[in-house]
Formats: sequence, structure tokens, C-alpha cells
Amino acid sequence: MLIQSIETVDVAVPLTKPFKTALRTVTTAYSIYVKVTTSEGLIGYGEAPPTHVITGESMDSIRYAINEIIAPSLIGLNLLESERIFQKLNACLVRNTSAKAAVDMAIYDLLAQQSGLPLFQFLGGYKTTLETDFTVSVNEPKEMADDAARYVNEGFNVLKVKVGIGSIKDDIARIHAIRERVGNKPKLRLDANQGWSAKEAVKAIRMMEDAGLEIEFVEQPVPAQDLEGLKKVTDCTDTLIMADESVFLVNDAKRVLEMRAADLINIKLMKSGGIYNAIKINTLAEANGVACMVGSMIETKIGITAAAHFAASHPNIHYYDFDAPLMLAKDMIVGGVIYEGSKMSFSNELGLGISRVEKG
Ligand code: MG
Repeated sequence: MLIQSIETVDVAVPLTKPFKTALRTVTTAYSIYVKVTTSEGLIGYGEAPPTHVITGESMDSIRYAINEIIAPSLIGLNLLESERIFQKLNACLVRNTSAKAAVDMAIYDLLAQQSGLPLFQFLGGYKTTLETDFTVSVNEPKEMADDAARYVNEGFNVLKVKVGIGSIKDDIARIHAIRERVGNKPKLRLDANQGWSAKEAVKAIRMMEDAGLEIEFVEQPVPAQDLEGLKKVTDCTDTLIMADESVFLVNDAKRVLEMRAADLINIKLMKSGGIYNAIKINTLAEANGVACMVGSMIETKIGITAAAHFAASHPNIHYYDFDAPLMLAKDMIVGGVIYEGSKMSFSNELGLGISRVEKG
């Protein structure tokens, strides 16, 4: 079974409410869909969103990387030698992790279809359902409390709260406002998206600990490159600290784990370059006693479906952050992961289970 063609198409889907973090504000989800077709006519789907502020990729760079560099490297290769395919995919250009992820997940879609299994079963089949959190964008405290209450009423038990804009006082006020509104039952995990210095992070997290705000963990408190700062925050607070933007590839994970710079790692296919490298990062973390979350960028249902299949098949993945498709004004994907409120499940369809993409 040979890879016969690799094609891309641009998509743009509006969000129902702007997504705001310390790094950016998003009102439309842009993405590039990938379709890999085999000599037998099987189709594998993939997706890569341009997340300039995190991966450095744009629509143009992703389209160019896939069509001009990755496709010529992979066309004609045999799916029975998938290891060769993934080696070539990772070696044909450096970085460009989202472009690689889109093709990687389409290859995994095909490998699972070829084996007659849904992808999560092809990868190990550990869980059949997942529970996602829902993200509260960073805004004024009252708006954030209103949003949090609405999501809890909609059935979300875990909220991921974006912080890291303005002063530490502003961030503490945000969390107080949310806790006062939703009570202590919903879990709150914070994401500062690199918005604090190490000292600010230690101060803010200690204040939240003293105030009894019960934070499950704090994601990426400090700038991505500041591993010493990340370690300082991890060492000087009781709250669990998660590395996100600090860990793209296996070598990044290795450094964070060697330094014990974080308690947890957030794996995203768009940072790792796909499932092939995500498995390696998770295995390394597991060997070091570090649990992982799987999250996403602002992606549509193809990327999230691939990430969910990977997450469900690996017991060391303890946390799931898959709310992006729920923020979109429309869903162009027929098939893929199934949402019922915060619960996600898989169909019995083979591979990613995506039957087609409707015109936007
Ligand atoms: Mg994050």
C-alpha cells in the first residue's frame, strides 16, 4: 500500500466568542486540512493550524512545507514500512511541527484503517471515553466569573482558566471571582501562557495556596526558554506545575525531566510534530514518573480527534484539554470524535473515523 498523493486545503471557521490568552486573541480558527491517499484509494485526514506565537508557523509556511517538502519526500513510500515514513517526515525539514503533525496523523489514520481498527485501539485501546475541560478566556473578573458559571451549568466539571495579563493582583482577583461564583466543586487549572516571571509566579501561586483557591495545576507560568525559572516555581510552590510551551520535542522533554523543572508535561501534536514523537515524549515522562496532559491549539475536529485517540490509548495521560471544537461556530467534519457536553467518545469506524469534510 503506497502513499500516492498528499493534498492540502485551507479552512477558516469563526469562533462563537473570542479566545484570549496572555499570548493572543483569536476570533477565527484558520487551519490547513491534509488528505493523504493510498494506491488502494484509502484516505487519511490531518490538520495543522497556524499558531504563530507558539510554533512560528503560518498558513503559507504550513502549505509550503507540506506540498513542496514533505509530499515529495513521502510519496511512493509503503505503509508497511511506517517507521521509514516517520523517520523521513521528521528528517526532511527542521521545526515546522504543525505541518509534520498534520501528515503524521493522516498516516496514523491510514495505518489503523489498514489494520481494521479505530486509531485508539490500534495504539493500545486503554480508554473508551474522555472528559475535557473548558477554557475561560482572560478578561475582567466579572466576565470570567460569568463565563465560568455558564460552562459549569453546561456540565463542565473542569475549567482551564487563562491568566497572565496585567498584575498578579488582577490574576488573583480573577480566580477569587470565579471561585466565589462556581464554588469549590469544579476543578480549576490555570494557564499563564508564559505571562509571569519566576518570582511573580511563586508569589501569585503562594497567595492562591494561602487563600485556599484549590488550583489543580498551573501551566507554563514563565517564558518557554526559562527552564531555570520553571524549576524555581516548581521547587518553591506546593501546587503542581506543568510545562507546555517549554516542551515541543523529545529533547525538550528530556531536559525538563532531567532538571525536574516541572511536575507535569502538556503534550500537543502541533508541538511534537505528531503522534510518533508524542508517544516517545509520553514514554520518557512515564519512565520519569511524570504524568502528562494532551492539549491542542485552536484546532477543528480533525486535529482534536487524532489527539484524543492518542490520549485515550496511553495510561500516563491523566488530563485532557480538548475543548477547541466546542468554541467553533460550525463543524465541517463528518465523523471523528463524539462530544456529549464534556464527555468524548469514539465511534467504531476505522482510523480517525472521519468520513468526509464538508465545504465551508
Ligand atoms: Mg497551555
